[in-house]
Amino acid sequence: MSADLISVVVTGACGKVGRHVVRGIAAEPDLRIAAAVDRKRVGQDLGAIAGISSLGITVTDDLAAAIDAARPQVLVDFTAPDAVKGNIRVALKKRVACVVGTTGLTPADLADIGALCREHATPVLVAPNFAIGAVLMMEFASEAAKHFAAAEIIELHHDQKLDAPSGTALKTAEMMRHTEGSLMGDERQKAEERSPRGQAAGRIRIHSVRLPGLVAHQEVIFGGLGQTLTIRHDSISRDSFVPGVLLAIRKIRSLEGLTYGLERIL
Ligand code: NAP
Repeated sequence: MSADLISVVVTGACGKVGRHVVRGIAAEPDLRIAAAVDRKRVGQDLGAIAGISSLGITVTDDLAAAIDAARPQVLVDFTAPDAVKGNIRVALKKRVACVVGTTGLTPADLADIGALCREHATPVLVAPNFAIGAVLMMEFASEAAKHFAAAEIIELHHDQKLDAPSGTALKTAEMMRHTEGSLMGDERQKAEERSPRGQAAGRIRIHSVRLPGLVAHQEVIFGGLGQTLTIRHDSISRDSFVPGVLLAIRKIRSLEGLTYGLERIL
């Protein structure tokens, strides 16, 4: 294997996003899929599952054994909130850098992951949204928050999504609150705090829509004197996440500790 080739294990490889990630990695000359892990379609051919020609890899449900056998340098995880921490722990113990797209990690989870990174001297990047347009939407919302006293977020996703509000919405609210000079910065309520109208992340309410037909969408609506400003991003295909994931795979081993958010490596 060439020294420049980065070998990757994908967990959640048979899922909705995982299959796009597998296709994306397989198309890159400097990247190689070393192993694929999922709890479904175990023993089946990964290429067939991803809708491409055979990659010579069968799906396994044992991440530790897959890492021992294939010796990947990077793990990419798109599984589920109850699986992701265990996968990161297994990978870090084996010094495999992690690129994590799975959402639903709490601030306490992130603190634990940061400690594990330090313990094993191996980096992790967690990004609640790998779509470049979504990252820009968050940046623009953070900028606009300097100038408006009120804003609400509407996040819309497919009806299979397990967590609500979305990681992207929580991250957007956090970026808007931390914007210097923002009138929204003076509230410190927890995102979990429930209200009859959406969930409150500080003074920024988040409304979660779950419907078949949707992929991943978000609107940030600002209200001011006699005007509103709407910033909207739509992932209309899960391909939208792939370039960000490929970038993270290429950069992760140059990072240290826990990095949160794709904007940190753009
Ligand atoms: P999905 O279609 O359910 O795919 C997840 C895959 O992981 C499924 O095949 C699932 O199997 C498998 N899985 C779940 N728990 C597992 C475990 N313990 N061990 C092994 N495999 C396991 O979900 P998705 O839509 O691809 O999304 C995956 C995650 O990525 C979600 O948290 C979602 O919110 C997040 N996401 C992030 C971004 C981003 O840009 N950061 C974008 C889109 C989605 P089963 O079907 O049997 O459960």
